[in-house]
Amino acid sequence: MQQAKDLFNYFHSLKKHSSIGSSYIFVGEYFSSVFEIVKLINCQAKEGFCGSCWDCQAVDRKSHPDLFTIEPEGLTIKIETVREVIRFLSLKSFRLGRKSVVIQQAQNLTLQAQNAFLKTLEEPPKNSFIALCTSKLEGLLPTINSRCRKIFLPFQEESLDLSLFKPVTAFLSGQDISFKDRKEFSSFVWNLIRFLHQGLLAKASGQNNQLSNLQGCAIILKNHTGSEIQSILEELLKIYAAGSSININLALNLIRMNFQGGFNR
Ligand SMILES: [Zn+2]
Repeated sequence: MQQAKDLFNYFHSLKKHSSIGSSYIFVGEYFSSVFEIVKLINCQAKEGFCGSCWDCQAVDRKSHPDLFTIEPEGLTIKIETVREVIRFLSLKSFRLGRKSVVIQQAQNLTLQAQNAFLKTLEEPPKNSFIALCTSKLEGLLPTINSRCRKIFLPFQEESLDLSLFKPVTAFLSGQDISFKDRKEFSSFVWNLIRFLHQGLLAKASGQNNQLSNLQGCAIILKNHTGSEIQSILEELLKIYAAGSSININLALNLIRMNFQGGFNR
């Protein structure tokens, strides 16, 4: 899976520069790659992770003393659990690495629990890696959203239907496009997000992938820096989250403006 590799290479290069952040939201449906990042963080191997050392195996078993995982069994993740997480993060690392927290289906955190987590996400204890994994970004408070870096997890290779990206490449090549309803527009925005995100990962890891070779994207990648693409992504996420209340034409213009030199701030 090329995209999984892109994601991994991205974190690998962050690790090399000691710049893996503390608070992340991983958006997707399959969260196994988040644990590969946890292995990358804890393993002493020079390149990637070895998969066979004590740390790698303990992460695989989800029994690493510096890893706290939550997989909600019921419908909600309660404030008591968040308090446990905060306690865990305040302890010193058992090994030399960082302390990791992986919360799967983070949209199941109750409002109270999300609020209790805010301060920790904003000022995480040194050497922590907090991964909120969610399939529903809109299930997290905007205040949580704004405090975390967002990473889109690779989608299944078989679901990658390139025809879905036709409106995206048309748009990026400057053609006029129209949508028959909000649902179609919403799927366009989502694919644009996926498209740019993959491009961003490819750019960060210095490699090309299937999507970044598509018409339009190559130019965008060449003309914008990584942080510019990141800020376009943030805008797109807001538009995507606004969903049913958005005016399509207004939103399209906004997106165009973001791509065209809206960066002279
Ligand atoms: Zn290892």
